[in-house]
Amino acid sequence: MDTSEPTPPDEMPALAVETENLTKIYSPSYGPTVRALDNVNLQVPRGSVFGLLGPNGAGKSTLINILAGLAIKTSGSARIWDYDTEKQFRRARSAIGVVPQEVNLDAFFCPREVLELQAGLYGVPKNERRTMEILEAVGLADKADAYARSLSGGMKRRLLIAKALVHTPPVVVLDEPTAGVDVELRRQLWAYMRILNEAGTTILLTTHYLEEAEEMCDTIAIIDHGKLIACEPTPALVGRLDQRTLTITVTTPLETVPGNLVSLSASLAAPNELTFCFSPSSMTVGEILEAIQTAGLTVADLATQDADLEDVFLRLTGIDDETRVIATDPPSSVIQDARSNPPL
Ligand code: ADP
Ligand code: MG
Repeated sequence: MDTSEPTPPDEMPALAVETENLTKIYSPSYGPTVRALDNVNLQVPRGSVFGLLGPNGAGKSTLINILAGLAIKTSGSARIWDYDTEKQFRRARSAIGVVPQEVNLDAFFCPREVLELQAGLYGVPKNERRTMEILEAVGLADKADAYARSLSGGMKRRLLIAKALVHTPPVVVLDEPTAGVDVELRRQLWAYMRILNEAGTTILLTTHYLEEAEEMCDTIAIIDHGKLIACEPTPALVGRLDQRTLTITVTTPLETVPGNLVSLSASLAAPNELTFCFSPSSMTVGEILEAIQTAGLTVADLATQDADLEDVFLRLTGIDDETRVIATDPPSSVIQDARSNPPL
């Protein structure tokens, strides 16, 4: 540990991650300059499960790579656990465990060795290492001595998570952890993230699975073209779209929408199914049911649906289903020597 850095504060910070006007401009020798992050001001409260959402190319991985010390910012600042990612690089890196978007495991190491190496890189003393405990937690105990190359895609992802946890970081960052992962593994991953979170770990994740973000995250930030366009507690973000859909099944088939229901924006989804899109703040379900009765119709069944995050996301980013990527398979594995990671 670098002793030239100030000693850690006694009290835990209110924010696990904070960026101020964080900007990243890529200037590749070929191709156009890309402003991947444009003055991003992000505040991730300690203890939260925080979702960073955005379409492909929005800048999510760039932000995470800057936090992880894998990309260099152009301007602005980033703090992890109140440590500046550049001025207090070592402490900042010790406070964060990053699960990258791409699988970067050495094919010839077994999970036990991967974790031991990582613990060594982070200076975790031998008697404080929790290699088997972590492998058990991610369901890889029985694969502790198997070559990484013999692990399935899902197992490799779990090993990456295990690797991010060896130094018991208070902040765990996962970049698209469930892209291309099967339903069962996804369920297991989230269950484990919840356990970590309940134990006090702050979780920051990026995902294309909007439903998942809505279910998992207590706070959600939306990033698009490098700009933060929303950051709110999940219910508030969803509540921003004051919209509800009511579907009513009536007992008699209809050919057209009855006159008195036209003004309530009713549409006929099927001969005996009427849908109403309405704003709960200006109309109630009771009012619609009254109008149904006035039209002489009998209700056989009804269902309501609140606006979900997907609606909010589409409205804010203006992206339609055609161009949006909800779930992509992870890119092909990038094999990288674990030993080439810069030691702390
Ligand atoms: P996301 O993770 O949200 O899909 P990225 O952070 O990977 O987005 O990319 C943001 C933008 O920066 C994209 O336009 C991407 O093409 C560009 N970009 C990412 N990495 C590089 C790089 N190493 N060199 C040049 N451009 C890059
Ligand atoms: Mg990405």
